[in-house]
Amino acid sequence: MNPSYDVAIIGGGPAGSTCAALLRKYDPSLRVLVLERERFPRDHVGESQLPPIGAVLNEMGCWEEVEAANFPIKIGATYRWGCSDELWNFEFVSGFQDEPRPAKYAGQRTQTALQVDRAVYDRILLDHARELGAEVRQETRVVEVLKDGDRVTGLRLDDGSVVEAVHYVDASGHVGVLRRAMGVGVECPTSLQNIAIWDYWQNAEWAVEIGVGGTRVQVLSLDYGWIWFIPLGPTRTSIGLILPADYYRRSGRRPQDLYEEAVRNDPVVSRLIQNARSEGALATTKDWSFVADRLAGDNWWLAGESAGFADPILAAGMTLAHWSAREAAYTILELNRGEHDGGWLKARYQDLQRRRLRQHIQFADFWYSANGNFEDLKDYTRQIAQEAGLDLDPDAAFQWLGTGGFINERLGATAAGTVDIRALRGLCRTLTDRAPRSLIADAGSFRLDLEGAQTDYLADYVDGRVVRVKTYVRGESRLPLTGAFQAVVRSLKWGGRSDQLLQNLMVYRETYFPAMPPGEWLNATLQVLEALVLEGWVHPQPDPAAPPMGRLVPELTH
Ligand SMILES: Cc1cc2nc3c(=O)[nH]c(=O)nc-3n(C[C@H](O)[C@H](O)[C@H](O)COP(=O)(O)OP(=O)(O)OC[C@H]3O[C@@H](n4cnc5c(N)ncnc54)[C@H](O)[C@@H]3O)c2cc1C
Repeated sequence: MNPSYDVAIIGGGPAGSTCAALLRKYDPSLRVLVLERERFPRDHVGESQLPPIGAVLNEMGCWEEVEAANFPIKIGATYRWGCSDELWNFEFVSGFQDEPRPAKYAGQRTQTALQVDRAVYDRILLDHARELGAEVRQETRVVEVLKDGDRVTGLRLDDGSVVEAVHYVDASGHVGVLRRAMGVGVECPTSLQNIAIWDYWQNAEWAVEIGVGGTRVQVLSLDYGWIWFIPLGPTRTSIGLILPADYYRRSGRRPQDLYEEAVRNDPVVSRLIQNARSEGALATTKDWSFVADRLAGDNWWLAGESAGFADPILAAGMTLAHWSAREAAYTILELNRGEHDGGWLKARYQDLQRRRLRQHIQFADFWYSANGNFEDLKDYTRQIAQEAGLDLDPDAAFQWLGTGGFINERLGATAAGTVDIRALRGLCRTLTDRAPRSLIADAGSFRLDLEGAQTDYLADYVDGRVVRVKTYVRGESRLPLTGAFQAVVRSLKWGGRSDQLLQNLMVYRETYFPAMPPGEWLNATLQVLEALVLEGWVHPQPDPAAPPMGRLVPELTH
């Protein structure tokens, strides 16, 4: 067998382009083919990004091209969500400063995101993959996956021809061409089953304008669902309505009528669209959250939305798509090098994506069940909370969110659904009216507990290489010895009293991370310390001989 391609990718959305671009970037000898059924530009729902995407665009080498398109900078979101009808803001970066565009991927722009018109954005990315040497065939639909057991042997195209490759990547989004063909099941870990109805509008007001291209998306709850309002540029805005499928069925009404009523009656949206007109291309979809049972087979991978979907409330779809496709590309590159065990590479890829997806779905459940504004949906949200074992006491909610693992987003740092621990505490405060306690503020000393832990190796994906990272594993929890985790573990071994620990952390920074500003370092490492307490790796104790950590770092008690 002598296949014509090294990697054949089904789908030219963000996942397909990311995978193709990074394969070619790190190994220009690879013959990479992208098969896309549409001709770009084409509209696609899902426009509001999260900050981690910038790093992937920068790595792909297309940050400048994306920035030149002048998409609005998303500095956060304005919500009507939680216990009152008041609007409140969530910001990725405090004190966003006006600066000229196009700007480099540096400073505050590493902490902001974009709101992208997908017709324009997806085309930029696909063109970029082509510029890097991937062969891109548009208006080419994969109609059949040929297979032999768990091995894909070819893809039949709509013109009847067959394409053969060494590796196959399913980046076909919710269609999941290869996932379905390989008989991969999906689990739906939540009772959340929504439908979405949306349209694009010309000349709506910008929701909240902040300097050069800076804005916020709006997420506005109604009694029976919620509305997104995403400015895509000075003249075009995406406005959508999300409803539980059950509610929609029971209403017996047409999507058009439900949509019209929602946008015309909402006080915020109706004001923003009073001089606007819709493009009249109303679209609907169901958006059930799911996680694929397997994400890697003999010679195939699922990346992006074909692998799973988390509710749109978190605006995480594209972030998950870019990151999973990046890691799929890294896994294939590493398999080709043959230095790591193939089973380990595939297992790491699969575990990481599944954990991430489940965590996002868990986080979405928290959002829905913590929304006291859902008058018509009270029973429904109560059921979500019950199924999730979620108690809305803020301490319990915080602990429950952490059971998905704060450690799995990026090795070396903590986050749940891309939200760090401090921001998460703020969010719990907003949604439940009380802040969860800091788990480290009252303690004077900290003891590392590795009892019963096994040693394993997790994967870190850095500069085109998959790196093995020594990790302690106990049950579902993992403690990777890298980045801020390594710093905290070593510093604790030198001394667990609060004052000693802070001093040790600072010595560690000066030795290994001198470029990192001290405040940022302290913030990162204390969040790691809290994650380790939450997951039982560290035990906090009162200590009469040492000041409580909250006295040394007052921000912990805010
Ligand atoms: C209602 C709703 C709102 C959302 N809101 C957001 C949001 O605000 N922010 C966010 O980040 N995400 C959001 N998402 C999710 C986001 O749209 C997706 O996660 C994202 O598009 C996934 O990227 P992808 O590359 O995996 O798939 P896609 O972008 O869907 O790309 C798949 C590509 O595969 C092609 N394809 C399909 N079948 C075939 C075939 N047989 N042969 C060849 N090509 C094929 C398609 O034409 C398509 O271009 C939302 C999703 C929904 C449903």
